Amino acid sequence: MTTHNQQLFTDSQKLIPGGVNSPVRAFRSVGGTPLFFQRGLGAYVWDADGKKYTDYVGSWGPMIVGHCHPDVVKAVQDAAAQGLGFGAPTASELEMAELLCKLLPSLEMVRLVSSGTEATMTAIRLARGFTGRARIIKFEGCYHGHSDGLLVKAGSGALTFGQPSSSGVPAEIAALTTVLAYNDASGLEKCFAEMGHEIAAVIVEPVAGNMNLITPKREFLDALRKLCTQHGAVLILDEVMTGFRVSLQGAQGYYGIKPDLVTLGKVMGGGLPAAAFGGRRDIMQCLAPLGAVYQAGTLSGNPVAVAAGLTTLKLVQAPGFYEYLAQRARQLTEGLTIAARKHGIAFCAQSVGGMFGLYFSKTLPTSYDEVMSCDKAAFNRFFHAMLDEGVYLAPSAFEAGFVSAAHTEADIAATVAAADKIFSGWR
Ligand SMILES: *Cc1c(COP(=O)(O)O)cnc(C)c1O
Repeated sequence: MTTHNQQLFTDSQKLIPGGVNSPVRAFRSVGGTPLFFQRGLGAYVWDADGKKYTDYVGSWGPMIVGHCHPDVVKAVQDAAAQGLGFGAPTASELEMAELLCKLLPSLEMVRLVSSGTEATMTAIRLARGFTGRARIIKFEGCYHGHSDGLLVKAGSGALTFGQPSSSGVPAEIAALTTVLAYNDASGLEKCFAEMGHEIAAVIVEPVAGNMNLITPKREFLDALRKLCTQHGAVLILDEVMTGFRVSLQGAQGYYGIKPDLVTLGKVMGGGLPAAAFGGRRDIMQCLAPLGAVYQAGTLSGNPVAVAAGLTTLKLVQAPGFYEYLAQRARQLTEGLTIAARKHGIAFCAQSVGGMFGLYFSKTLPTSYDEVMSCDKAAFNRFFHAMLDEGVYLAPSAFEAGFVSAAHTEADIAATVAAADKIFSGWR
């Protein structure tokens, strides 16, 4: 029997490349038919066949207060009733700017855009305009959206020119990006010693969440700040995922690191397309119309998206919000680890605030290479078994997971029990 999911996927593939509007949704990494979702409420989502799942993807992070929080739904409805957009300033954009600058002290000025990709792309242009330099540094396994200069992988030698990681990216553009190993402070030091005068910016995920989850080493964070300051390069913390996710002050507050520029998205849009970049006033003043670095957006600061974001950011300020979120994430990672180990499975897990990583590996990975050596086949088997049990994990071994404030202790306990059942029949 063909399910509604299968039919929708078959039909979608005729008109939409791969049947999806963003590649990881296609389940290529885990195999099988992707789920088409119909609705969500709190910690749960329902697919086109009416099957209910506990959701650990949360739209890849934004749904931090759960799906369809009544306050968010009402704010969106109210904003929509006032006009869907004007392409002109509105008071709610000022309110968002004030809130972002209050919550993240590194933001002296901020500009709203519509996606994380736009935020990082513009932050890099701004850093180049500010410094008058061209080269940027990124780290292997970090994802910063899909602009040309960021779809780059390391060349053959450590400090050779970057190579395009996507067809369609000119080698000449990739060559301006140097790709280094995450958490490798001495590699970064060596790179700055060699080409420090050329480097406009270093962009980094302060907790890497696009290669499963890798936490930053203290010495790595310290080296980033020290070397950028010494060499006059702009330190861009890409907090599109970690912002308002690992703590109310993001990863910069969690780890105590001060960036020059910050990029935000996901949670700050509350599920709608809102994102931002901001930081030092002297850098931000280089942006048009004040300065010579051009950036614009028809839908930037869209009032409906801003309403969703503002309301979400009000909810996350409730006392104890992040303690609760971190507790639930820890309950999940500890529960899964105990269940797996009980049955002799090489597995570990960790969380930072409301995001978590699961690894079919004996030890916690600290680098891209270590993540890549986790047992991908075991993850894929676990993913599908959990899906059968009504648990929706990210459909790839190389993505972080997310909990929301709508996940109860009982929800997590049920997920752990489902995993325990799967692990007990693992061999
Ligand atoms: C999701 C993400 C992006 C891209 O954001 P989009 O809104 O998908 O364009 C950039 N950086 C990081 C760290 C992300 O997690």
